[in-house]
Amino acid sequence: MPRLFTAIEVPEEVGLILSGYRGGLSGARWIDVENYHITLRFLGDVDEETAQEAAYLLGKVRRAPFEVTFEGPDAFGGARPRSLIVKVAPTPALIELQAEHERLMRRAGLAAESRKFTPHVTLARLRDASPRAVADYLGLRGGPPGLSFRAEQFVIYSSRDSVGGGPYVLEAAYPLR
Ligand code: ATP
Ligand code: MG
Repeated sequence: MPRLFTAIEVPEEVGLILSGYRGGLSGARWIDVENYHITLRFLGDVDEETAQEAAYLLGKVRRAPFEVTFEGPDAFGGARPRSLIVKVAPTPALIELQAEHERLMRRAGLAAESRKFTPHVTLARLRDASPRAVADYLGLRGGPPGLSFRAEQFVIYSSRDSVGGGPYVLEAAYPLR
């Protein structure tokens, strides 16, 4: 069964700038720049029929391109940090697009996503990184990078069946216009 998620791609030149966050934290497994993305809706492992229906319904989205703006780096996991991210500004256009994906994926038969949408790009997975080391890293790198780009489309990516992880494969692209 394909394992799918919808996302905004990170343009190559933007990824290169974000890759400047790499390094300086032991216990971090840095994500390859070509795998940077902003997840909108995680579908998970779905059967072929659900995948087809999801792809069809996403084709109904009619939205204009919009600016994606990065806020500062941060970590997920609190006292047990598990990933290093760079936050994306939760602007109305992004939130509304994500909410529409949520509605459409429920129509395709998927269970509701209970977690709050926190737009981000994952920079690294953390293993045995101490909260202190993460705080020090963020203290040095903190602050918005003053970086943005224009999202002209959203996509469906597949990751590896069952287990996830990159390289992600682009399955479909939907222009914003
Ligand atoms: P892994 O986390 O196992 O290294 P991955 O996260 O790269 O793999 P997937 O697990 O297929 O690959 O996830 C694809 C995308 O969906 C990632 O951006 C991930 O953060 C996100 N994601 C995964 N599981 C969920 C979930 N339950 N809810 C929301 N988003 C999720
Ligand atoms: Mg995962």
